[in-house]
Amino acid sequence: MGYDDIIRRIRAAEATHGRPEGSVRLIAVSKVQPNPRVEAVLQAGHRLFGENYVQEAQGKWPAFRENFGAVDVHLIGPLQTNKAKPAMDLFDAIHTLDRPSLAQRLARLAQDLGRCPALFVQVNTGEEPQKAGILPQDADGFISQARALDLPIIGAMCIPPEGENPGPHFAHLAHIAERNGLPNLSMGMSGDFETAIAHGATHVRVGSAIFGARSY
Ligand SMILES: *Cc1c(COP(=O)(O)O)cnc(C)c1O
Repeated sequence: MGYDDIIRRIRAAEATHGRPEGSVRLIAVSKVQPNPRVEAVLQAGHRLFGENYVQEAQGKWPAFRENFGAVDVHLIGPLQTNKAKPAMDLFDAIHTLDRPSLAQRLARLAQDLGRCPALFVQVNTGEEPQKAGILPQDADGFISQARALDLPIIGAMCIPPEGENPGPHFAHLAHIAERNGLPNLSMGMSGDFETAIAHGATHVRVGSAIFGARSY
């Protein structure tokens, strides 16, 4: 199975880059994958998954959690403000906090609910107009704004531009996180997670290399 191989490669990359063993967590990205493939990885003992769509995750994780016990599920796709409540009910972490209006909505809900998932600020390191994420030059201000709202910001996340060398983007994100005192870095996917580990990733988001290609 792809899963065992990816775990091996993560441990090897930790060793190669002087990272403590186990310091990189694998988020198995199960979006759009058939349930039997996801079950196989749950059977293997894995308990941390990533989903892109609130509605899709609502449709499968309550049953998986019933059958397999506690499973951490992280939202790694864009979050519409009107889906903030169900997202807070379902996910243990949200990697895509990317704008002030969403921060304000999450803060209000957190006050009502008395809890909040751990949050990563998504940074648009490639400054791509069509891509979500706060611009690098706005990141420091946004992070302090979110902290002032008492939001539990624990890290930064990025998706480098397609077809570009991802290394400089990972380095840039690591720099932004460090100067803001954020201990977690969500970066690296199937094609570049070892590069991300070299640059300090704490959470790699790997889908197709574990589960196989997605058919939409
Ligand atoms: C789909 C997705 C992934 C996983 O991508 P793979 O190339 O299949 O590993 C990681 N991060 C985000 C934000 C995604 O949307």
